[in-house]
Amino acid sequence: MAKAIDPVCGMEVETQTAQYKTVYKGKIYYFCSNMCKVEFEKNPDYYLTKGPQGMPG
Ligand SMILES: [Zn+2]
Repeated sequence: MAKAIDPVCGMEVETQTAQYKTVYKGKIYYFCSNMCKVEFEKNPDYYLTKGPQGMPG
């Protein structure tokens, strides 16, 4: 099973069962929750340059 790292909180996410994902600059990002997805979409460059910052909120 392929796993991806949630760029917002750093959790591992199963790519096959992931419900929350978004495409940014041609790359797919996976999230553990809708909250992380929304957070990422607000400021994708922040998470891509700084790395996971822990659960938002
Ligand atoms: Zn997350």
